[in-house]
Amino acid sequence: MSVLLLPPATYSAVSLDIEALTDGPRFVRTRGMSRWHRPRSGTRYPKGRVVYGCWCGYGVGGSERAGAFLAADEPPAGEPVCGTCEGRAAGAGQNESPTGRLLLFSPRDIDPPKNCPASRSSLYEELPGGRVGRCLACGDMQPLRAMGGPYNPRYAIVQHLTGQALVAPCPFHRWRELTTRDGRVVCACGREITQ
Ligand SMILES: [Zn+2]
Ligand SMILES: [Zn+2]
Ligand SMILES: [Zn+2]
Repeated sequence: MSVLLLPPATYSAVSLDIEALTDGPRFVRTRGMSRWHRPRSGTRYPKGRVVYGCWCGYGVGGSERAGAFLAADEPPAGEPVCGTCEGRAAGAGQNESPTGRLLLFSPRDIDPPKNCPASRSSLYEELPGGRVGRCLACGDMQPLRAMGGPYNPRYAIVQHLTGQALVAPCPFHRWRELTTRDGRVVCACGREITQ
């Protein structure tokens, strides 16, 4: 049995041969670790190397084939589990609360931003008349304004709340680095964005 993983959001550059995993084992640990941890996200690197980012901040991984780490649905009886992982995973809704109480934990960089990521950018398609644009990130129609200084004038779509039709995020950079390539929205890392 596996669990759904959160995207491995990061502020670092991620080359295109690195893949975000969408599901993974419920518990992992290396042989040297004193307790089991719960994967929050997973990343597959070239040559079959996998690293799970755990809720407590530890990374657990290595070659999938070489048994560099242990994975389990349920840790063997008596073996301890990381309390930070268990509590945060339950609080974020990945598994049931171990206490029966409603736990809440809100991971950063996962939910769509309140303000549209295309705000004050050139990520828009100009509509006839030139005063309104269709936001390429969220689909809403918004006014266009001249922005930038006198030496660097440009038009931009105004700051606006994120609309209903927000594009899917990059698994690594979420909506932070959206740009256009041949008129389509992509992440600056080069990953395609589905609309
Ligand atoms: Zn942990
Ligand atoms: Zn927008
Ligand atoms: Zn990206």
